[in-house]
Amino acid sequence: MIDSPLLPEPRAYIAGDWVDADDGTTFGVTNPANGELLANLPALGPQETGRAVAAAQAALPSPPDLATRRRWLQAIDTALRDNQAELGRILTLEHGKPHAEAQGEVRYAAGFFAYAAEHLDVLQPRILAEQPRDCTWTVYPRPAGAVALVTPWNFPIGMLAKKLSASLAAGAPAVAKPSSKTPLTMLALLTLLDRELDLPAGMVNLVTGAAEPIGDALLTDRRIRVLSFTGSTAVGQELIRGSAEDCKRLTLELGGNAPLIVFADADLDWAADQLIANKFRGSGQTCVCANRILVEEPAMDAFAEKVAERAGRLQVGDGMAEGVDLGPLIDRRGYDKVRRHYLDAVEQGATPVLGEDPGPLEQDYGAFFPPTVVRGVGPEMACWQEETFGPLVPLAPFRGEAEALEMANDAELGLAAYLFTGDDARAERLIPHLAFPHVGWNTGSGPTPEAPFGGTKRSGYGREGGLEGLLEFVETQTVPRGHPERARG
Ligand code: NAP
Repeated sequence: MIDSPLLPEPRAYIAGDWVDADDGTTFGVTNPANGELLANLPALGPQETGRAVAAAQAALPSPPDLATRRRWLQAIDTALRDNQAELGRILTLEHGKPHAEAQGEVRYAAGFFAYAAEHLDVLQPRILAEQPRDCTWTVYPRPAGAVALVTPWNFPIGMLAKKLSASLAAGAPAVAKPSSKTPLTMLALLTLLDRELDLPAGMVNLVTGAAEPIGDALLTDRRIRVLSFTGSTAVGQELIRGSAEDCKRLTLELGGNAPLIVFADADLDWAADQLIANKFRGSGQTCVCANRILVEEPAMDAFAEKVAERAGRLQVGDGMAEGVDLGPLIDRRGYDKVRRHYLDAVEQGATPVLGEDPGPLEQDYGAFFPPTVVRGVGPEMACWQEETFGPLVPLAPFRGEAEALEMANDAELGLAAYLFTGDDARAERLIPHLAFPHVGWNTGSGPTPEAPFGGTKRSGYGREGGLEGLLEFVETQTVPRGHPERARG
């Protein structure tokens, strides 16, 4: 069992109280590296979720002023940074990623609160310069209502931070639901909020338990006005269907299938370094990591060698051990998918450059998949069509700009893309035609708190981060004020 000063109460959090499930049922959270049971948490259902929504709704009528919200956001930024080592340890134990990387995620999370505090004035009421119809027009950014924040396991605190920083900035009370695989880091954050902030009861609630009963309760509750979801495209599509009745506003951050394009005129060493950093973060379990690596034919031999040489040096193991670069995959299902993509690619003619079939996994933990590189990949293969979510690097050859664009845009998902070239004019020519809202130009960098990030096509809609992200939980109210005294002269 996990022992942490940040987890004194392994319980859910509703209306400022730590609570159990009404019927006392719990579910286990385990360490993906070794299968050890870390904690048993309450398995809440629709009744308890309804109470969390009621608590959020009750906090709504007295939205805090901007100065109070700024103070909260700054305090959370500080609390996260002050506790990054312990929060990172909890994150590593439940997710598997290396401890240094987990602490990096905590700092990344803190950055969203810092950015929101810094830019909160964007939510000040604004008086229009124009006075149409002889009225004074004021636009008030109001909290959109009680909101729901549903997050995945691959960034247990980063994804919550994107949403919670914006909901607090807007003054919108929230009900957060973490993934059942990784709820402990979020629980630790709630412990810090409970201890160190004077949040009104119900301003932030945490519901733990199975996805369907909680998800359905949040989706069908009319008091929830915005549901912000990060996760798979399949669940996002279910939410779109389920939200129709209520016209509930959704923010959907869904799956990715990022192309990374390398032209022969690129700095190949730099491109290989960037690909390694981008691809192997979280053992390849990120929505923004390169999923299809397109390499201009004349550079293929050299680039494949550079990537394989670098990937071959990476250490796989328990994320709490020294010198580990890649932790385990989250579970056997994830492992089986990466293995299926590898086997399918090789069966259809791809050539292994690094690694081999690691064989089936007997148990549901210890899914240590080694870095693997294959070349000769094409659009008919599963690793091209689906998000692999693991440490498989599939290299596909292309000839010329037109083919690179056609291949890169051959995806139902549209989230991130990367382009490496030594020719600036070429990059400026191609980038507008890449159907991805985030395009790294000679960099494998993903999102940052200061810039908007989100999807298009089946990667969803809405934006998190940047000034755009601060508007996700806001409803504008426009008030034209008439001046009878003026009309009368
Ligand atoms: P998931 O299975 O869709 O689950 C995401 C969250 O939704 C979890 O909290 C899950 O709870 C919950 N959930 C599952 N079914 C639900 C339902 N019917 N109604 C309401 N909630 C439901 O996704 P995942 O496997 O955790 O995450 C991996 C996916 O997230 C990948 O596709 C990745 O690309 C995507 N992702 C996207 C972004 C982005 O910014 N676009 C960022 C990170 C990840 P349980 O865990 O309890 O089942």
